[in-house]
Amino acid sequence: AMHDSGWRRVVLKLSGEAFAGGDELGIDAAVVEYLAESIAAVVSEGIQVAVVVGGGNMFRGADMSERGMERGRADYMGMLGTVINCLALQDFLERQGVETRVQTAIHMSQVAEAYIPRRAIRHLEKGRVVIFGAGLGAPFFSTDTAAAQRALEIEAQAVLKGTQVDGVYDSDPHRNSGAVKFDRLDYNEVLTRGLKVMDATAVSLCMDNGLPIVVFDLMGKGNIVRAVRGEKIGTIVGR
Ligand code: UDP
Repeated sequence: AMHDSGWRRVVLKLSGEAFAGGDELGIDAAVVEYLAESIAAVVSEGIQVAVVVGGGNMFRGADMSERGMERGRADYMGMLGTVINCLALQDFLERQGVETRVQTAIHMSQVAEAYIPRRAIRHLEKGRVVIFGAGLGAPFFSTDTAAAQRALEIEAQAVLKGTQVDGVYDSDPHRNSGAVKFDRLDYNEVLTRGLKVMDATAVSLCMDNGLPIVVFDLMGKGNIVRAVRGEKIGTIVGR
């Protein structure tokens, strides 16, 4: 289906933080249900949706490494955490009647398919939601970077980054009431001003390949549907 944007296939990045919802840790079922309902709605319109799931509600490698754990090992723990979120989302999506496949960058054949890009595309063409877990399968990366890389490899037209704020601001809107929101930004501006969109690795990957990033408030009612349809929402980073 073609909408405002003409996007036919998108990657939706869901942070692990969102999965925790009101809870400190773990998974808030009400949140995952809402995410699944929203994704089901856009899939029924014929838009192909792949999801990259974060793991910040479970484990962040960098935090543990600051406390003395070997960074590589801590990051693998972080990647495994994302898979738990993937399975939760898969369950709620299937209860909505949406066909899904989880593909992980770390092989775990009882639980998920291996990441095979051409197969992922095939699933999407059949109207299945593909949920990518375990990031890129490599330490020192983030699931934001995985979202950018997966979007490029499966030829998605945009990365939609759901966050806790309704776009990108010149300063933290939770701390500074005078913070100004950007409607549009250039990649270079994000990098030079150090704006909080995605980490620099992810942003430069998008910049080098002209892949648009949409930053929007994930839990705002109807926002996922609007973002996937390419309606004006949040902040768009592009050129
Ligand atoms: N991670 C990694 N390589 C990747 C993706 C993730 O090492 O390609 C690890 C890293 O430790 C990270 C954790 O997995 O802290 C959880 O992912 P992330 O912090 O990106 O989740 P989010 O912030 O989206 O909840």
